Amino acid sequence: MRGTGKADIRVAQIIHQLSLNENCSPPLPGVLEAAERSLRTMHLTLDALATGLTGAIAERFAIAPERVVAGAGSGALLQQFLTAHSGPGAAVLHAWPSFELYPLLIRNALAEPVAVPSDGDRQDLAALADAVTPETKVVLLCNPNNPTGEVLGEAELADFLAALPPHVLVLIDEAYREFADPARIADGLALAAADDRVAVVRTFSKSHGLLGLRVGYLVAAEPVAAALRPTLPFYRVPTVAQAAALAALDAEDAMRERCRAVAAERDRVRAGLLELGWDVPPSGGNFLWLRLGERSKPFVAYLAANGVAVREIAGAGVRVSTGTPEANDAVLMLAKEFAAKEF
Ligand code: PMP
Repeated sequence: MRGTGKADIRVAQIIHQLSLNENCSPPLPGVLEAAERSLRTMHLTLDALATGLTGAIAERFAIAPERVVAGAGSGALLQQFLTAHSGPGAAVLHAWPSFELYPLLIRNALAEPVAVPSDGDRQDLAALADAVTPETKVVLLCNPNNPTGEVLGEAELADFLAALPPHVLVLIDEAYREFADPARIADGLALAAADDRVAVVRTFSKSHGLLGLRVGYLVAAEPVAAALRPTLPFYRVPTVAQAAALAALDAEDAMRERCRAVAAERDRVRAGLLELGWDVPPSGGNFLWLRLGERSKPFVAYLAANGVAVREIAGAGVRVSTGTPEANDAVLMLAKEFAAKEF
């Protein structure tokens, strides 16, 4: 756990990787077996539209398969959506702090990112609605929000949609939804079913632990989803990822159980940090948000020097992913040491 102590070596070997919001559990055996089986046909062409997978997702949620698009992770789908529905001259709104890659993905689509400052750690939905102009084509919402862990509920999203003009699409990024309390988090799919302006993107990377395989899906009104298909050739889901995702869908109970365990660990770490007097809001993701202000940088450096990687969001705070109990204990111990030194 300890750093080398040498002044010229500031970053120790990483022992606990808590900066990437990975799922800390190894693949479920059934998922691994399905992936291994699919490797035997790797010499054959792939199902480009992932019809087996989109069909299974459509069936799971009782929606038309035409409304589902599979992609190489939710990041690729965000890019495809922005390419299809924004572009030169368009503005795309998002709250800040939120997922660090939103501005990059928006610029990749040749549109203009507009970051609307959060109200404390809450995505300011009223300010987002006020910031809409005739050029605004898309609003990105993150639920739960990375990095703050904030969870948006049904009523506030309904109010937001009511305040939004008809020409604006809303893409709700639910990359972490399975770690949130289902009683509190809005169901993006229900909102999308009721309002054609709403699209939802989800991923197998976090809750299902398929991060390295690249697979996610987007649900939208049929014409909104159809516009993503011409952008598909560069974002196909590999055969092995399709097979693993299908098996992961079948392992829903085990996945839920694992997410509950991660959420329990997350809340245990939060309770420990609150006991130390730290300001840590409740989180619906597999991570916590530490409002450390100017202490963010020294805290991240202190953890790095002791083998724990966490993420600083410049000028805002520190995001700490939830890892194994051992990794989480290391965070608590180092936070205690840091507080004794610095506070
Ligand atoms: N959305 C959010 C909020 C994320 O944090 C991430 C990854 N960190 C993604 C989307 C992309 O994830 P993936 O492409 O692996 O599905």
